[in-house]
Amino acid sequence: MAVSFPDRMLVTGGAGFIGSNFVARAVEAGSFVVNLDALTYAGNPDNLAPLAGNDRHLFVRGDILERDLVLGLLREHRPSALVHFAAESHVDRSIDGPGAFVRTNVVGTFELLEAARAHLGGLPPGEAAAFRFVHVSTDEVYGSLGPGGFFREDSPYAPNSPYAASKAGADHLVRAYHETYRLNAVVTHCGNNYGPYQFPEKLIPLVALNALEGKPLPVYGDGQNVRDWIYVGDHCEGVAAALARGRPGEAYNFGARGEMTNLALVHALCDRLDALAPPAENRALAGRVASYRELVTFVQDRPGHDRRYAIDPSKAEAELGWRARHGFDEGLELTLRWYLANRAWCERIAAGTYRRERLGLAAP
Ligand code: NAD
Repeated sequence: MAVSFPDRMLVTGGAGFIGSNFVARAVEAGSFVVNLDALTYAGNPDNLAPLAGNDRHLFVRGDILERDLVLGLLREHRPSALVHFAAESHVDRSIDGPGAFVRTNVVGTFELLEAARAHLGGLPPGEAAAFRFVHVSTDEVYGSLGPGGFFREDSPYAPNSPYAASKAGADHLVRAYHETYRLNAVVTHCGNNYGPYQFPEKLIPLVALNALEGKPLPVYGDGQNVRDWIYVGDHCEGVAAALARGRPGEAYNFGARGEMTNLALVHALCDRLDALAPPAENRALAGRVASYRELVTFVQDRPGHDRRYAIDPSKAEAELGWRARHGFDEGLELTLRWYLANRAWCERIAAGTYRRERLGLAAP
């Protein structure tokens, strides 16, 4: 089914990885987007460079915790949807400092819901009923799977990390605002995203950039943890489909049937990089290795590391007419080519405070 976007949207977290990919697609499709982002360490104005000068994109630097700011934007721009990506999103950071996750992910979502409720109370009933709120959440709220089975929308919540728990708390608030105040809200759950503009603390860009620089490629524990990978563009199309066709009060899981162990993923990435940026021609390696695989280094596991995630996307496929369009090999190729072509983007991040150091080893 064709991808369509609302005419006017308020998007939170649109300078982050998934948000910036979503905003670019929406603006290109003709939407007017007010993009509210606090520009934390993960928010990057460079991600929005392709939208510079586009009058269908209005960037507002601000915090979702500021209810009056959000309410003012809703009243001024009268969007027909609020798409909520803004979050603290890195599990390892949530182990080191859970407070920021509770503030942004739980309290921040509450403030957005309250702003939306106040705004809708002042609108004509038809416009209020048509207003849609989408909370972009994660499959991590369901906890960890054994060797079999899949996360479905009716899987019980069992979050294991402070990050997952904070997203679960936000999901429950969104659901409650639908049940209690009839807010036209939908929650989406997605597995591990990869693609252009992902901050290099996450596995795929971290491994790719370390490999290119001849550094060790850290694999947590035994490398047998399984994640379900989805190309970011497919996730963005899923969120658009949920906006257009999701039933109020429902949840939708997006996945690409892309289960893989972390070690298999790192090996696949190394093999592709061996072809795209041959080690023999890479001066950073100085002839030390014949394949990037040789840089793989097993490191101490993450505390409470979930063993397996796997998503059953059949409800989203049946009800939303959505389906992931990129297989892993194709998505990985697009992603690696993007990072190779955008080394300046990577270098500007490296010039900031994050040096790809290990995070999230705090004692429980
Ligand atoms: P990201 O960390 O790259 O981006 C988050 C953005 O939110 C940043 O631009 C940051 O500046 C902004 N932000 C943080 N706190 C804010 C605040 N208080 N007010 C306003 N803006 C704030 O994250 P991402 O990977 O793009 O994830 C986006 C959303 O998707 C998150 O809600 C995340 O939980 C969810 N999600 C991510 C994945 C994934 O694999 N990355 C998978 C499933 C769900």
